[in-house]
Amino acid sequence: MADAKKPVKKGKSVLKYKKYTVSGESLTRLGKTCPKCGPAIFMAEHKDRSHCGKCGYAEFKKQ
Ligand SMILES: [Zn+2]
Repeated sequence: MADAKKPVKKGKSVLKYKKYTVSGESLTRLGKTCPKCGPAIFMAEHKDRSHCGKCGYAEFKKQ
């Protein structure tokens, strides 16, 4: 019964947004996360603001 082969997807684990490091039990986030999308979504850092590319939320930095 070897004809029931499951198509093995070679999953490329593209961790493009992995901007945090896990050391032990503590999770250290290196980027700012979106308060709307949750802690899994990181925001793009700009010079004077942070911007979420998913929901469009922008947070302006106080100078
Ligand atoms: Zn967002």
